[in-house]
Amino acid sequence: MRYDVVIIGGGPAGLSAAIYAARGGLKTAVFERAFIGGQITVTEDVENYPGFEESLSGFELTGKMHAQAERFGAEFFDEEITALHLEGACKTVETSEDNKYEAKVIILCTGAHPRSLGVPGEEEFTGRGVSYCATCDGALYRDKVVAMVGGGDSAVQEAIFLTRFASKVYIIHRRDELRAQKIIQDRALSNPKIEMVWDSVVHEIQGEAAVQKLKVFNRKTEEVSYLDVDGVFIYVGILPNNELMGPEIKLDEAGFVITDENMQTSVPGVYAAGDIRNTVLRQVVTAASDGAIAAWCAEKWLIENFDDSSCDKE
Ligand SMILES: Cc1cc2nc3c(=O)[nH]c(=O)nc-3n(C[C@H](O)[C@H](O)[C@H](O)COP(=O)(O)OP(=O)(O)OC[C@H]3O[C@@H](n4cnc5c(N)ncnc54)[C@H](O)[C@@H]3O)c2cc1C
Repeated sequence: MRYDVVIIGGGPAGLSAAIYAARGGLKTAVFERAFIGGQITVTEDVENYPGFEESLSGFELTGKMHAQAERFGAEFFDEEITALHLEGACKTVETSEDNKYEAKVIILCTGAHPRSLGVPGEEEFTGRGVSYCATCDGALYRDKVVAMVGGGDSAVQEAIFLTRFASKVYIIHRRDELRAQKIIQDRALSNPKIEMVWDSVVHEIQGEAAVQKLKVFNRKTEEVSYLDVDGVFIYVGILPNNELMGPEIKLDEAGFVITDENMQTSVPGVYAAGDIRNTVLRQVVTAASDGAIAAWCAEKWLIENFDDSSCDKE
């Protein structure tokens, strides 16, 4: 089966790309290995996506995007893309169901995932006090006590952001000094709402219906203590879902796909959008925007550069 556009990943970037590509009259296929909607489906309240005065769940929001893409004729497949062949004019993808599909253009929307701590309680309380996104969930902790785990720029910056809402923010860091830039450190260390928990790591997240306590281990003194918190934000890094990308797709040092402003990767006819891209803000609104740009530029590229007979010649 041959498609004008194959989109890999059915998160906000992939769904937005599908809306634009299918509405532009391109034969469009979207492949999703887990569930349509991507990372945001675990969030109860999305409060910062424009157009919805009342917050709505990530599941609801991406459900609307999905319906919209289907309305314009995008086809959805519950299949994981397991291999990419990008050498010819017509590209090929292989799937977990042992199917092969041809694509004139590929849009990589495979997203990312936060690095987890891997401690008991973390998975159980995700969305119920464990969060990987302060921009998204910080406002839910007005006048509450929260902890930030991490010591890099993002962790410290987001801990400062959390003080807008929370009555107290612990920063739990495994070392005795922060890795964040000096100016950010100074701001955090002089903030009366922030308390540093140095040389420490979280060993367990505890609670009943939601998070209530963190079991913290001090690596220097080897003492165990408990912190009462309503939420814990984990900022120990974000990992790109890049296992598909071969050496022809240029990645940055952290493994995110490098694109130009048209979302084109190092391979002509292959675009990337959303969290997989090397970008400064990873949110639904930016993923949707990237997806739209990628699909629009892909359509233009097909008209200007693609010889339709080239697929049949190969
Ligand atoms: C807990 C949490 C809360 C958040 N809250 C907010 C918020 O309130 N507001 C906001 O704007 N942003 C929020 N974000 C960020 C937001 O979820 C992401 O920026 C957004 O989902 C990125 O969309 P994406 O489509 O690029 O990637 P993703 O959402 O990661 O989607 C990528 C999809 O690709 C699929 N995939 C990967 N590889 C393959 C493959 N080989 N074959 C087939 N499918 C594949 C994955 O299964 C996934 O569904 C939050 C993130 C988290 C983790």
